[in-house]
Amino acid sequence: QAKGGDKGTWQRYQPELHGAMVQRLEIRAALHEAIEGGQFRPMFQPIVDLHTGLIAGVEALVRWEHPARGLLGPFHFIEVAEESGAIVAIGMSVLRAALSQFTRWKTDDPSTSLRYVSVNVSARQFRTPGFVDQVREALAEAGARPEWLLLEITESLVLRDADQVWDDLRALRAMGIRIAIDDFGTGYSSLSYLRQMPVDVLKLDKSFIDDILSSDQQHTMVDTIVTLARNLDLAVVAEGIEDAGQRDALARMGCPYGQGYLFSKPVWPGEITELVRGVLTDIH
Ligand code: C2E
Ligand code: MG
Ligand code: MG
Ligand code: MG
Repeated sequence: QAKGGDKGTWQRYQPELHGAMVQRLEIRAALHEAIEGGQFRPMFQPIVDLHTGLIAGVEALVRWEHPARGLLGPFHFIEVAEESGAIVAIGMSVLRAALSQFTRWKTDDPSTSLRYVSVNVSARQFRTPGFVDQVREALAEAGARPEWLLLEITESLVLRDADQVWDDLRALRAMGIRIAIDDFGTGYSSLSYLRQMPVDVLKLDKSFIDDILSSDQQHTMVDTIVTLARNLDLAVVAEGIEDAGQRDALARMGCPYGQGYLFSKPVWPGEITELVRGVLTDIH
């Protein structure tokens, strides 16, 4: 058992590693039951039209209502779910829940400012055979129109396996669904490639937005991307806006949409209804 001089170090770190491993195994084992039990539900975060201040859309963000540990965000389980493949079933349940909730908002108030719901799709889920048909079925089941749905995918997915992925992206867009590149700027797509990509929206990663007030370089960078996107007919959503100065700077650049704690954290559906109503009341 004794391993010599390094034994002390080994023993000091080993329990932590062991604990983390056990926790991952526990999560992995619990995922199936959680899926069966319908413990995954989306919260929704407003996406705001920076020109009018109206809530134009909402992003569905999955939460695990863990019976023992309470409400868990993606940080606690998304990696394990990706590895085990459970993300495919979780993603579909989020898509269905998001679409049926959004249909309810549209039905309850046909003149709502809400135009779309944005749903995250992992690379693994997107590459599942039959994904496009599953989306079509989910829309039909919810009674939702394809124009109401925006699918968020990652830059790396669009770059990898380009042929099959681009075919599927084109099929989805032909149905009327829009596609966003999430966390744009954290991957490796060259700006010239952007022109050809079958996508509609760029979501500018929070790391770009964080420093636009303090760094001229970051400001210029975001300004340039916003202008380029406009010229390519792509909409832009700035992620992670936390203060009014950032919002104003982005609005001045002509960035059309923003999302962040300044407007609202992710909330349950009832609070979205209230926020949408509240913003409208403020304007009139
Ligand atoms: P994301 O899609 O980039 O979503 C934005 C994340 O930033 C959310 O974290 C949101 O709560 C957080 N956020 C929004 N505004 C602010 C802000 O002003 N400040 C800060 N500090 N954070 C802000 P969340 O909900 O923990 O989700 C984390 C990630 O998990 C998401 O990043 C997305 O990649 C993934 N995810 C969430 N739901 C799903 C899902 O249903 N399916 C898949 N495949 N992935 C999901
Ligand atoms: Mg997202
Ligand atoms: Mg994002
Ligand atoms: Mg992000």
